[in-house]
Amino acid sequence: MNPLFANIPTTIFERMSMLAREHGATNLGQGFPDFGWPEDVVSRAAAELTGAASQYPPMRGLPELRQAVADHYRAHQQIDYSAEQVTITSGATEALAAALLALIEPGDEVVLFQPLYDAYVPIIRRAGGIPRFVSLTPPDWRITAEALGAAFTDRTRLVVFNNPHNPTARLFDAEELRVLGEACIRHDVVAVSDEVWEHVLFDDRRFVPLSAVAGMKDRTVKVGSAGKIFSLTGWKVGWILAPDHLAGPIAKAHQFLTFTTPPNLQAAAAFGLGKAPDYFAGMRSNFQAARDVMDQGLRDIGYVTLPSEGTYFLCIDLAASGIDVDDMHFCLRAVEEAGVAAIPISPFYEDDPVRNVIRLCFAKKDETIETGLAGMKTVR
Ligand code: PMP
Ligand code: GLN
Repeated sequence: MNPLFANIPTTIFERMSMLAREHGATNLGQGFPDFGWPEDVVSRAAAELTGAASQYPPMRGLPELRQAVADHYRAHQQIDYSAEQVTITSGATEALAAALLALIEPGDEVVLFQPLYDAYVPIIRRAGGIPRFVSLTPPDWRITAEALGAAFTDRTRLVVFNNPHNPTARLFDAEELRVLGEACIRHDVVAVSDEVWEHVLFDDRRFVPLSAVAGMKDRTVKVGSAGKIFSLTGWKVGWILAPDHLAGPIAKAHQFLTFTTPPNLQAAAAFGLGKAPDYFAGMRSNFQAARDVMDQGLRDIGYVTLPSEGTYFLCIDLAASGIDVDDMHFCLRAVEEAGVAAIPISPFYEDDPVRNVIRLCFAKKDETIETGLAGMKTVR
């Protein structure tokens, strides 16, 4: 086996979900909701499955979905892409793989922010890239110009950015986007911007895509996911938006990864993207209410939580909560002894990990949160 892969453990999401099943625990680990998806989008997928063609759709996606993606972002984020600049993929995971495989040449340096979503680094290494990390630390997890300055070199070709950020639940602000944009332009670097959580934002925050930052449109590859927008995480319908000179090579990588994505799910996603703004506002306020229930519940039983500005996640600072075991120990004890699964943050670091923070998913019905909180109370 390729030694790069021999050394990679099973992802922390799968490990914790397996333990949750084994111990009959409430799963507040892996990020998936147990409420809040649009039934009409699901019905549309069902109708398309029985009523329409189930043969290969075009390689770069159903024309109606490519157009719907472009229209959606023009309406919601005021960014201008043509349908031809959209490629549909099997989830954001495949979008990331296609972009990284197409854009990295062996020896290229790639700047990433840790803690990081765990799919990035294995693909970068397999493509021959050399990851360079900018470490973010609690409680503010801020990106600074100094940290960026230390990570970018004249061999940097790519930066992988994620906003809103999993697992910290931060929405990086205008100043952080500005310094990142300046670094990319100064070093003539392309940014792959993983924006799958773009609609899941709280407290009236507004999302600014990286491609809207001055000078970035022509050097940004934007990645999105219907799984996150519609809370249908198992659907694995994603997309890439890129300027022409990047979209072509990425589509070539996509054709040999999955080639296409189920047409009924694509048609249903196209229908969903056209929903009125009320739908997206309602989704945000439902998840915000769930966030508040979990945050208050955790504080009531003595945990110190960190702000959740977006995503389905809320982090706990174990040390500040007076708990002196590390994140992995705490999560193993929680799932085995208290029947609640959470995610430790340390596996999201490649080096020098933060070991006193865990992540919980609050995109759950009140009763699920209540059961989870009862377990969290006993494990303190
Ligand atoms: N990027 C980030 C930051 C994510 O949180 C996720 C899903 N957890 C993905 C990518 C993968 O999205 P998909 O399920 O569409 O492949
Ligand atoms: N994105 C989800 C999370 O962060 C899960 C992804 C996965 O299971 N690979 O929890």
